[in-house]
Amino acid sequence: MSIRLTRPLRAYALAAVVLGLGAATILPSEVEARTLRGGGSMSLGELRGELVEIGVPVPTGATIARGVSRLAEEAERKRTRFPVAGEFNWGQSGARFGAGRSGHVHEGQDVFAPTGTPLLSVADGVVLETGDDGGRGNYVAIFDPAARRTYFYLHMVEPSRVPAGRRVRAGQPVGGVGCTGSCFGEHLHFEVRRGRDTAGPAEDPLPLLRRWADLAGAGPTLPPGKS
Ligand SMILES: [Zn+2]
Repeated sequence: MSIRLTRPLRAYALAAVVLGLGAATILPSEVEARTLRGGGSMSLGELRGELVEIGVPVPTGATIARGVSRLAEEAERKRTRFPVAGEFNWGQSGARFGAGRSGHVHEGQDVFAPTGTPLLSVADGVVLETGDDGGRGNYVAIFDPAARRTYFYLHMVEPSRVPAGRRVRAGQPVGGVGCTGSCFGEHLHFEVRRGRDTAGPAEDPLPLLRRWADLAGAGPTLPPGKS
């Protein structure tokens, strides 16, 4: 009985090891992951040994790599969400990260969706800040400790549903799409900033958003609108 209990936990640990590599396209000869205990490394042989031990049949290195990648994808699917729970589109060139704005550069990706479309926390995290200022409108910033990133949701229709300091889970509703603040056309302005820092360096959110949409089986089905 104790073995049955430990198997899924160890499988999950292996998935976490591979996720640490971002190894969706991992090659068998390249499997070398840091262990969860930190510092050490795990060779393909050791990984194979672990899988044999937990009862996974492992005839080839390629099979191991495929299985671990599937495991990693499933774990990723469980711990992330696409932030917009409804029909959306990516807008046009002006909606992209780095697009020109008067006096500054666009530091997020705009995701267009009807007002009131629920907005979900993309990961487990903690609310760093909420507010309602002139440009950002109703907004919430959530820190994701696993990824060491801070996510911003701007222009929400109403103030954040979760206060600063509150922990949130992936998929938890945090607000709704709106057009408060400096906004033309109802949309979510989504920002990704490095670290536990609402002013950390901004990164292009689009690759992450596309990945989360793929994992959720979601796609841009809303007819293109203004951006
Ligand atoms: Zn924007």
